[in-house]
Amino acid sequence: MINVIILGPPGAGKGTQARLIQEKFGYVQISTGDLIRQEIASGSELGKHLQPIVNAGGYLDDKIMLELLENKLKTVRTGAILDGLPRTENQANALYEMLKNNHQQVDLVIELKVDKDILAKRIAGRFSCANCGAIYNEYFNPLASEGKCDHCQGTEFTRRKDDALEVVYKRLDIYYEKTQPLLSYYEKNGQLSQVDGMQSVDDVASQIEVLIKKYLKKPQVCVN
Ligand SMILES: [Zn+2]
Repeated sequence: MINVIILGPPGAGKGTQARLIQEKFGYVQISTGDLIRQEIASGSELGKHLQPIVNAGGYLDDKIMLELLENKLKTVRTGAILDGLPRTENQANALYEMLKNNHQQVDLVIELKVDKDILAKRIAGRFSCANCGAIYNEYFNPLASEGKCDHCQGTEFTRRKDDALEVVYKRLDIYYEKTQPLLSYYEKNGQLSQVDGMQSVDDVASQIEVLIKKYLKKPQVCVN
């Protein structure tokens, strides 16, 4: 059993990479959102308790999240890829304790390093043709002629409202402010590996693959 944590700001491609690791190694991708959705769908008492909190857009406390994670991990045999948890140093400490109680540990922490300006423009610049769905980016892949889709000549475009440049920057700033102590924590423990997240999806995936294979080759330390 191996536990891999994947860290990176929103839009860095964590979910995509987690899915690719899942396909390649047969590990199970575990995101906090999925954990909550599954618990609610199961109709359990806990799920019934969580539903109104989630519906109201509230956050679940660390203890509940860890409990959900612990239950999920008990069903996993090969490996787990944690996407979106832990988020803070406190959660990392709690995760450490929980895994230790289950004779497990965090094996690998992979940070997708990004260039904040490029990432912000990748997210904020994207829009698509309302008619044919062609995807553009005002900074990196603009329309050939103003206001007209290259493919279908459509003139209507859709754009996500919460993706305005300043909103995206703000989201990234909040992420780094919150996550920096977590990165330092894993770096201090010698567990942090960094991958350049600005490369193509395939290149990022193959570097992550190398890190996992290297880790698997290391003589395993038994935790108990
Ligand atoms: Zn079009």
